[in-house]
Amino acid sequence: MDFQVTEEQRMLLDSLRAFLEAEIYPHEAEVDRSGEVPAEIAERISRRSKEMGFHAANLPESVGGGGLDYSSLALMEREMGKTSYGLNGYIARPSEILMACAGDQVERYLTACVRGDKKECFALTEPGAGSDIMSMATRARRQGDDYVINGAKHFISSAGVPDFAILFAATGSEETPRGPRKLVTAFLVDRGTPGFEMRRGPRCTSQRAYHTYQLDFEDCRVPAGQILGEEHKGLELADKWLRMGRVWVGAGCCGKMERLLELASDWAANRKQFGKPIGQFQGTSFKLADMATELRAADLLVMDAARKADQGSMTPQDAAMAKLFPSEALGRAADHAVQIFGGMGLMEDLPVERLWRDARLDRIWDGTSEIQRHIIARALLRPLGA
Ligand SMILES: Cc1cc2nc3c(=O)[nH]c(=O)nc-3n(C[C@H](O)[C@H](O)[C@H](O)COP(=O)(O)OP(=O)(O)OC[C@H]3O[C@@H](n4cnc5c(N)ncnc54)[C@H](O)[C@@H]3O)c2cc1C
Repeated sequence: MDFQVTEEQRMLLDSLRAFLEAEIYPHEAEVDRSGEVPAEIAERISRRSKEMGFHAANLPESVGGGGLDYSSLALMEREMGKTSYGLNGYIARPSEILMACAGDQVERYLTACVRGDKKECFALTEPGAGSDIMSMATRARRQGDDYVINGAKHFISSAGVPDFAILFAATGSEETPRGPRKLVTAFLVDRGTPGFEMRRGPRCTSQRAYHTYQLDFEDCRVPAGQILGEEHKGLELADKWLRMGRVWVGAGCCGKMERLLELASDWAANRKQFGKPIGQFQGTSFKLADMATELRAADLLVMDAARKADQGSMTPQDAAMAKLFPSEALGRAADHAVQIFGGMGLMEDLPVERLWRDARLDRIWDGTSEIQRHIIARALLRPLGA
């Protein structure tokens, strides 16, 4: 496996790093404390990211995006993952599943997101349906040319208030050899549609300026023209989004690990106790060695999955491994970093405690570690009939 960064990718990363240094790092501590991103900062990140060509870099050039391949995007996500989502979320990466837009949806949703005029959210999780998405209770009933939606979603996250939801709702069921199975359809539902209420969710301990929303639908009527993709084919779209999302989470974990490793190494080299740098004690230096080794392994898993995605051969288990190991390794790295910093590791004055809090989320969203293990184990056991 050859994961050499190309000259083009190096230039991309250099300019992205400079951008993050100028526009994101200086605001991290403050937005974490307040839990809010001031409008002028959000607007500036969004504007500058467009000027620099980072905006919608993930979508094809044919729709106005940056047309980057998955390997380059993984490198970008790795770099952005070092920083707070609440801020880097304004470097828009519109959901790839918006490529399923057809007819006037293209201008109203896809192009609007590429231009930065609109922002979407991905609404799958429900209070009663988290890991078990097939138990979703949100339904869309066909009535003439419309669908009437009832149900609720929660934990739906976004940097800033979303303009529309990509909403997943049950639209029927089918018989399978394993019993009845829900049919799910994706809908584009604008904020402000009668019967659709959106309110802030509870304050989260990780990524404090990246908010979640509760979405309530009560007899919310949308025309059939608001279906994204095909009726009953919503799960395929959700799966596409989740699969690449797992690689992006894994990449972000690698970035956070690298930042923690740099911070912890620097501290271990300079903090003296018993007359010498604490890095000279194996209790400290071995932690750094483990962090560096796990970072290397995590990077290889992520880049392997991204390269396979570029070749069209990435499997669900590739994506699951690209999230599982980096997110678990990040948890260990963050804990080691706090330990190496001692009491200072828990003080808000330094970024370590924030990175430690932020890291916790990565083992939960986009499918928990247990669900990633299910995906990996299923690929091993299903061919054996288990
Ligand atoms: C900050 C944040 C942002 C989010 N953003 C979004 C978003 O934008 N859109 C969206 O749709 N969702 C979003 N989510 C939801 C996220 O994907 C879910 O929280 C996650 O899938 C887990 O679901 P749950 O929280 O309901 O936990 P549960 O499913 O209730 O799981 C609880 C525990 O049970 C374990 N468990 C469940 N089933 C099994 C099993 N079969 N085997 C072993 N263990 C199991 C889980 O691993 C976990 O440890 C977000 C969540 C957070 C916290």
